[in-house]
Amino acid sequence: MEFKKCVRCGCFFMSNDNVCCNCESKDKFDIAKLNNILEDNDQFNSIEDLSIASGVNVNNLNRYIKNNKLSGFKNISL
Ligand SMILES: [Zn+2]
Repeated sequence: MEFKKCVRCGCFFMSNDNVCCNCESKDKFDIAKLNNILEDNDQFNSIEDLSIASGVNVNNLNRYIKNNKLSGFKNISL
């Protein structure tokens, strides 16, 4: 286990993950919501569009995409 700084809220915590346990549940909620949105509409032209549609900020979106959390995300060029 490493001592890490949460990429989402900035607090320090012990884990092998990049987010603390509080933010882990928020991440899961965001990812479920995003995958629902992408299931209905995978025609977003940019991360900004998806951010506006979902209310999830661009930093978090980029992080989920980098970690391959958004399975429906295929039409947005990075
Ligand atoms: Zn956190």
